[in-house]
Amino acid sequence: MIVMKFGGSSVESAEAIERVANIVIDRRHQRPIVVVSAMGKTTNRLLEIASLAVNGQRSQALDQLQALQDYHHQHADPYGAKPVIQEHFQELAELVRGLAILGELTPRSIDAITSFGERLSSRIVAVAIGAKHIDSRHVIVTDERHTMAAPLYPETNEKLAATAWGDITVMGGFIAATRAGVTTTLGRGGSDFTASIVGAGIGASEIQIWTDVDGMLTCDPTVLPGGRRVKSMSFAEAAELAYFGAKVLHPATVLPAVEKNIPVLILNSRRPHVAGTRITAEGPSTPSVAKSIACKKNITLVNIQSSRMLMAHGFLRRIFEVFDRHETPVDMVATSEVSVSLTIDNAAKMDQIAAELRNFAEVEIEQQQAIVCLVGDNIRWQKGVAARVFGALSGINIRMISQGASLRNLGFVVAQADLRQAVESLHSEFFTEVDPEVFE
Ligand code: ADP
Ligand code: ASP
Ligand code: MG
Repeated sequence: MIVMKFGGSSVESAEAIERVANIVIDRRHQRPIVVVSAMGKTTNRLLEIASLAVNGQRSQALDQLQALQDYHHQHADPYGAKPVIQEHFQELAELVRGLAILGELTPRSIDAITSFGERLSSRIVAVAIGAKHIDSRHVIVTDERHTMAAPLYPETNEKLAATAWGDITVMGGFIAATRAGVTTTLGRGGSDFTASIVGAGIGASEIQIWTDVDGMLTCDPTVLPGGRRVKSMSFAEAAELAYFGAKVLHPATVLPAVEKNIPVLILNSRRPHVAGTRITAEGPSTPSVAKSIACKKNITLVNIQSSRMLMAHGFLRRIFEVFDRHETPVDMVATSEVSVSLTIDNAAKMDQIAAELRNFAEVEIEQQQAIVCLVGDNIRWQKGVAARVFGALSGINIRMISQGASLRNLGFVVAQADLRQAVESLHSEFFTEVDPEVFE
């Protein structure tokens, strides 16, 4: 069996759904389990509707809900999904009215509302293909951390093993339920993660992530177009790229695949004949130093300097306790004796964090920063990589440098305004002449 995951843009219209149906039916001899995201930008639109509803804009919320329903009818009625859509939007409208009365949006109600995207798209795609439908909330069991729930593998795997799969089965990505049956979601972009949970759980021979690009490219196409397709890479490389911002793969996707050693493929649903990127344990053997450059925008850089004497012990512990208390993950860290620089992705709690840090340190906060990260298994073996990197970036002000313990990545922080220039310079240094076995 194989798992085939199709992202939002791959199911955004009637034509897109038809492409998906053809791709899946071509592979029916492999008994595919098809994991789909919500159609197009549905998840964002549902979040917008929820926030209008709780902010006293009930009629705007209901108007937008109607527009979202029209969009679903327009593209899915031709497949015979009209009754399914009507039924779901009736329930959604009740939920939105309820939110408008309560005037409060909890993580649990966010999950209730966003789950409709995948509940609908999976029913629609199942009808379009003529496949069996499974409600993911009956097979993926998570903890109760709404909006970013983590799977409980023993329960989930037991349910997956007990499921009667069809010749072709369709299920929604992103959505799951607690042991008590309350709807949860796995975090934004989480459909990739669903695919790998299912793939590992059933021992699939392959996990295919079908999206809107030809595979993992040598740079983020939203920052610098024209990157090359990487034909193959290792799980470790893919995991670091995902973690440092390559949105094409959700960062949690790799782990379940690693544990069962299942190849992960990234493929383009608009160009299914392209071989995509194949991600395996070993990765290719190649002299190339790097596989790709990942970027993360809208990063906050925090510089913290001890206001006490030199070498006071416990300084780092106190700093990290503050971030921990505010449940704010720290991405990159660089330290010297009396100062620490670090980056955070989610600055929602920055004011409280800064206030607490200022009890024992001087704090400087810089917004609008970006992380650029060169990733490749060979970075650890090859001499002179840092010199090449710094040579390429000589015209750019680098705010912070970090080399992960894996030695598989070299990361920097630059001002967001310098991001494109930094990526362009690094890309021409490392990807102008490439190993044709590994890069297109
Ligand atoms: P889906 O809806 O199919 O899950 P996503 O938008 O989540 O698609 O991921 C695909 C997008 O990831 C691409 O359109 C591209 O803009 C972005 N991306 C970022 N970095 C990379 C990269 N290194 N290679 C390919 N795509 C990347
Ligand atoms: N629909 C969800 C999102 O937009 C999950 C996904 O697409 O992977 O975040
Ligand atoms: Mg995605």
